[in-house]
This record gives sequence, structure tokens and C-alpha cells, in this order.
Amino acid sequence: MKHTRRNVLKGASVLAAAAATGGIAVPQAEANKQPYPKGMAHGLTLLTMRRNSSEDYRLGVKTEKGILDVAAAAKLLRIYAPETMDDLLQREHGPALNTLVATALTAAAAKPAFVKEETVEYGPLVSRPAKIVCVGLNYRKHAQETGAQVPKEPVLFNKYQTCLNRHNGTVKLPVDLAKKFDYEVEMVIVIGKEASNVPEADALTYAAGYATGNDFTARDLQYETGGQWMIGKAIDQFAPLGPYMLTADLVDPDNLKLECRVNGETRQSSSTADMIANTRHMISYISRYIKLKPGDIIFTGTPEGVIQGKPKDKQVWLKPGDKIACSLEKLGELKFELV
Ligand code: MG
Repeated sequence: MKHTRRNVLKGASVLAAAAATGGIAVPQAEANKQPYPKGMAHGLTLLTMRRNSSEDYRLGVKTEKGILDVAAAAKLLRIYAPETMDDLLQREHGPALNTLVATALTAAAAKPAFVKEETVEYGPLVSRPAKIVCVGLNYRKHAQETGAQVPKEPVLFNKYQTCLNRHNGTVKLPVDLAKKFDYEVEMVIVIGKEASNVPEADALTYAAGYATGNDFTARDLQYETGGQWMIGKAIDQFAPLGPYMLTADLVDPDNLKLECRVNGETRQSSSTADMIANTRHMISYISRYIKLKPGDIIFTGTPEGVIQGKPKDKQVWLKPGDKIACSLEKLGELKFELV
């Protein structure tokens, strides 16, 4: 058949019709054009897998049958599903993912798409958010331990995509630039739909899910570079995140225990119930000034127990070889090593 424009268009519409009935695998470029229903995924524990230690990232779902490799299942079942966490969030293809998972759990054909979690190499939970917004001094005792005023409204700063890091990864300490490296366990909000000037009462409906994160920090750069925070917190690899995102329907974000351990020793132990600005206030407040987009993430502040909060003669800063473990109740334990 001659590849006239008309034939190509006709071919695309046949593909779309077949896809709508679940009859054919749809390439991503084609899927972008499909009228898939928009919405967030529900009832799922999600992760990013990486293959061959490369930036070949794929969406995974933790199930009772193991980790479902979403792209592999979509191919086996010949139905569309978003292939990466960023595709899921930014295209708002939650319903397609829920359909795929429900089908895969009962279809014999999808069996090869389940893998053992022990064999999975984790990638950064998200890899291309449009924004990473961070809230500082959001726990009273942490504000007090650092000698700061307890803020009346959330104190905002930012990180960048190049900060993103993964569960079981490493943070390379830039020892030529800084010496005072510190941990900050934090709950991370993952945004699921566009939020602009949203009222507090509705704010939680804009969250796709929640994850464990660490707002890793070089204190000397944070406090000794002219009174601005970003440079101490936006260094490459300084935003470990993961291993999982739990969908928002599974989590009460304002009532989660959180902990940080260094080489097995507990350093931080608190609850998100102690946050000054709760989750709905943070989303609402940020959305007054900055339009939040699906796939954006928000670091929500750390509780007391950081090295900066100790008396000066007891401050032993982190060093290469230290192993950090951060956990949030239900959301999983994030581990990484300093090199
Ligand atoms: Mg922080």
C-alpha cells in the first residue's frame, strides 16, 4: 500500500479503534494521542525499576505475586499502560494502569511479567518532574534546634531534577566544596493533577501519592554562603527518594511515623502529626504562588535530630562510607550510602 497521508491517518484510526477494545499494543507516541480517561491510580504501591544500571526506567507495581513489570505486562496482554512513573503521573493515566494491573493479576498470559523484588534494581521514583518544591522548618522542634524562628507560613526553597536519587543508590559527597553534610528524613508529596490556587478543603485530592525522601544538605553551603539555602540543598544527587510511592487513597499523610538512622543508629524519630503546616495547607499554600503540575514533588520538612541541631562540639558530620536509612510508616525504607 502506498504511504499517502490519507492511508497513514486511516492506519492510525484503526490502531486507535483496536486499542480502545484492548486488541492491540499501542506505541507510546500513539498513546499520547489517545483519549484515555484521565485520573490518578488507586490502591497501588508503585516503584521505578531500572535495567542494566542505566537510565532505562520502567514502572513497577508491588503485588502479592511479586513486582509487576508494567511495560512487559502491557506487551504480553496487548493493552496500553504507561511505561514509566513520569508517564503515569504527567499523562494522568491512572485508570489505564489500574485496568492493566487488575487484568495482569488474573491473566495467565501475564505471568512472565511478575519478577521477584530481590532481583529488582530501583531507579529514581520519578525522573523528570517539572518542579521539586521543598518546605523548610516545618517541625517546631527542628526549627528550635537550629535556632530559627518558628515560621508563620511555609518556608519554600527548591531542588532540581539533577538532585534526584534512588533507593539503594549512593550520594557522592562534593568534599572539595563542603564539609558539613547532614541528613533530613522527609515525607514527599507527589502531585497528581494541576493545582492552582486550590482551597485547603480540596487540597488532598491533588496528591497522587506519598513517598519517603531525604533532603540531603551541606550545612556550610546552606548557612555560610550569604543567607540563602538553595546551594546547600540542590547539589547533584541530594534528593534520594523511594523505594515506593503509595497511592494517596492508602495513606493518611498527617499521621505517619518517620525515622532516620545513620549506620544503624537512630538519629531522628517523630511523626508527621507534628508538622507545623499539614499536607493540605502546604499544597494549598504553594498553589497560590506556583502552579503545581502532575508529577511535581514536594519535600515537606524534617523533624528534630539533625546534626546541625547538636551542640557545636558534638557535631560529627557525615562522611564517605556512612549508610543512611530513612523510613516512613507504610511508605517504606529508603537506603543509600555516601561515597
Ligand atoms: Mg528539609
